[in-house]
Amino acid sequence: MQSSSSSSFVRSEKSAIVGFRKSLNAKKMLTSNANEKDIIVSNDRNHGRRRSSARARLLCEAMVGGGNRKYNFSAGPAMLPLDVLEEAQKDLVDYKGTGMSVLEMSHRGKDFMAIAEKAEKDLRELVKIPDNYKVLFVQGGASTMFAMNVMNLCPNGTEKADFVTTGAWSKKAFQEAKRYCDASEAATSKDANFSTIPERASWNLREGAKFVHICENETIGGVEFKETPKIQDGAVLVADHSSNYLSKPIDVSKYGIVYGGVQKNIACAGMGIYMVREDLIGNPSKITPTMMDFKTHSENESMYNTPPCYTWYISGLVFAKLLKDGGLEAMEKRNQEKAKILYDAIDASAGYYNCPTDSKYRSLMNVPFTLAKGGDVEKKFLKEASDAGFESLKGHRSVGGARASIYNAMPKEGVQALASFMKDFQLKNA
Ligand code: PMP
Repeated sequence: MQSSSSSSFVRSEKSAIVGFRKSLNAKKMLTSNANEKDIIVSNDRNHGRRRSSARARLLCEAMVGGGNRKYNFSAGPAMLPLDVLEEAQKDLVDYKGTGMSVLEMSHRGKDFMAIAEKAEKDLRELVKIPDNYKVLFVQGGASTMFAMNVMNLCPNGTEKADFVTTGAWSKKAFQEAKRYCDASEAATSKDANFSTIPERASWNLREGAKFVHICENETIGGVEFKETPKIQDGAVLVADHSSNYLSKPIDVSKYGIVYGGVQKNIACAGMGIYMVREDLIGNPSKITPTMMDFKTHSENESMYNTPPCYTWYISGLVFAKLLKDGGLEAMEKRNQEKAKILYDAIDASAGYYNCPTDSKYRSLMNVPFTLAKGGDVEKKFLKEASDAGFESLKGHRSVGGARASIYNAMPKEGVQALASFMKDFQLKNA
């Protein structure tokens, strides 16, 4: 991401204010703790300290859709689109005249079957999933999928699999795989504190390996692959998309397996989604539990047992919304714009804020940053941000600092409001 001039910062701030005014006018959604004086102050173009902090608070409070909804920067479970929540709310007690909530329906009844089928159909259209790939909706989260991948691809338990470790999650996948195959670390960015992705030319990929595993987006470290790597002939690429699922178009045919949990960029917690090439199904190791065998799910339309019905339903609402909003190309464009606002704000702070990641691989989804003043000032920043309504900005407990997760559902205005708050905090605490 390029470093920005301060003028682009001002532009984005202005558009946040314009959006703020529009939302005030259109929706009359002032919250109970925003009084009239604050509004006059916030509409004033003067950039005094009290004014800008009131403005940041108002931007934060007013733009999510009224009420007390905050801009939630949590790494997951995370923000969901407001219109999806409202639709679910409308249908919560009586789903489209069925006299039942989706929460209460039999997963084998025609109403839920229709929900499940439409969700898969929409997902296939959205990602352009080729016909020779199965979509599986499973439980257990990505942590279970780490083991499932290996059990289904390595029937003897001695097959080779190569792992590229670029952070906490690819490390976990690697550790888990060691239990079920001959797993080796083909490359790692450990020496760079997982702030980058090792150059493809340096990867030590083994001939005869069954698969190569990557984590497309490291949620904690904030590094993201910018293109799908080419791997050795005969091996398949297996990629964890938990924290950037549906954030941009992907070419599924370049992968053997695309997988991830849904609780960050798709829906609420409780489900993982697989896109698996058909020929990789049906040859698991003997120790594979029935529920971890791809074939079990593939042969039973992901309903061998009771699926996570509500999460499946919410996922379906999100797929339909993404299609309506222009698909993954449009989503990627919005995500690039949002991430640029935040990275530019950090880069324009003259070192007050620092993002530790290699600019070539900066994630569009998770933006980690530290404050040069460290310790107490960082605590103060997190406290004031939280008081102003910016939720869950604390960095992962393993790395500290701050992290803003700006998944698909985070509106651009939320990122603009945060950038504005950061600028204001810097002015006050220089
Ligand atoms: N992979 C990535 C990239 C993640 O971010 C996470 C969760 N934070 C996981 C795997 C593990 O996911 P789950 O909690 O669904 O097991």
